[in-house]
Amino acid sequence: MMSEIILTVNQKFEDKFKNGYPLISAEALASTAGLEEEGSIIKLVDRRKQFIARGYYGKQNKGLGWLLTWKEQERIDQGFFERKLKNAINQRLQFFQSEDTTAFRLFNGEGDGIGGLTIDYFDGYYLINWYSEGIYQFKNEIVLSLRQLADVKGVYQKKRFAQSGKYIEEDDFVMGERPEFPLIVKENGVNFAVYLNEGAMVGVFLDQRDVRKLIRDKYAEGKTVLNTFSYTGAFSVFAAAGGAAKTTSVDLANRSEAKTNEQFSINGIDYERQDIIVMDVFNYFKYAVKKQLKFDMVILDPPSFARSKKHTFSAAKDYKDLLKQTIAITEENGVIVASTNASNFDMKKFKGFIDKAFKESGSSYKLMEQFSLPEDFRTISQFKQGDYLKVVFIRKTG
Ligand code: SAH
Repeated sequence: MMSEIILTVNQKFEDKFKNGYPLISAEALASTAGLEEEGSIIKLVDRRKQFIARGYYGKQNKGLGWLLTWKEQERIDQGFFERKLKNAINQRLQFFQSEDTTAFRLFNGEGDGIGGLTIDYFDGYYLINWYSEGIYQFKNEIVLSLRQLADVKGVYQKKRFAQSGKYIEEDDFVMGERPEFPLIVKENGVNFAVYLNEGAMVGVFLDQRDVRKLIRDKYAEGKTVLNTFSYTGAFSVFAAAGGAAKTTSVDLANRSEAKTNEQFSINGIDYERQDIIVMDVFNYFKYAVKKQLKFDMVILDPPSFARSKKHTFSAAKDYKDLLKQTIAITEENGVIVASTNASNFDMKKFKGFIDKAFKESGSSYKLMEQFSLPEDFRTISQFKQGDYLKVVFIRKTG
């Protein structure tokens, strides 16, 4: 175990940290002297040298590391990781017992007490995301804890700490057995093909589980559905499973077509009766207007930041315009599902974009449903940015 680096907090941040704020940032510290080796233990003290909390040094785009305990006596050792993991498992027993959902988030960073670390469960296999070199220093303790506390068929990992949080390409296998890919997992009875060893993304974003279910159970029947930024078509598959008249999936990545065909096929849905289009969404909007296409439901789930050949899209700047283009191709009484995972604005601001987009389009609307992260993506009230997901169902009423 490395020795502790004692760092003094600027007075103005003292209360925040004492109240449980977990993210260490340079501006909150009197000095960052001594921070050299990632994974070092940091002891934060106030200006009277009184203990506030203990954490680790690990650089992410968000900050310099995370606080782990506010108890002076508590050490960051094997027992610490076991306690955190055990608690996380106990919070999710109903997920472990579920037969129709076999993929969920087991450990959600600071929401479960360790910022910079997430663990997802895929039918007996575990995927660990390391968000800094610092947390990766605790790999042995964390993997050992997992093996002791859970039935582990195999473990994979994603190192997300190349520059500015980028994924490091390598063999992501850690231990156990390698399943045959695709690994077929279930979500509310629907199959998903998951690939744990093909780059940063595995085929499904688990945080949209409740949204997909509602689309299938309450909104899709008989409807024409346009799914933009569709990736592997997860929303389209749920819409089709809910009886949609037809789904149209649009994504500019070449891989999306085969991946979406696969998701339909493993659910017994004929993909040839669905449209899967490899195209820039912004070009598709122009095409749809020209062809006077309109949809009963449009799903918008763009990345918070993306660069294509012609466009740079940033959710904070461009979501309103994306909505205006969507409103133009949505039927009256149709529903827009507007989603964003941007953590740099909150629900209130998001609703502001929505209101502006409808006003500027001369349309009226009604808010129908609203979602933030599902319960397996635990968050803490002291760290609001951690609750990044915002999804709103909007009915176009005029
Ligand atoms: N909605 C998806 C996840 C979206 S991930 C789901 O629920 O599974 C973001 C996707 O947007 C990626 O697949 C990426 O290829 C796509 N994308 C980014 N910019 C795009 C653009 N301008 N036009 C079309 N697709 C885009």
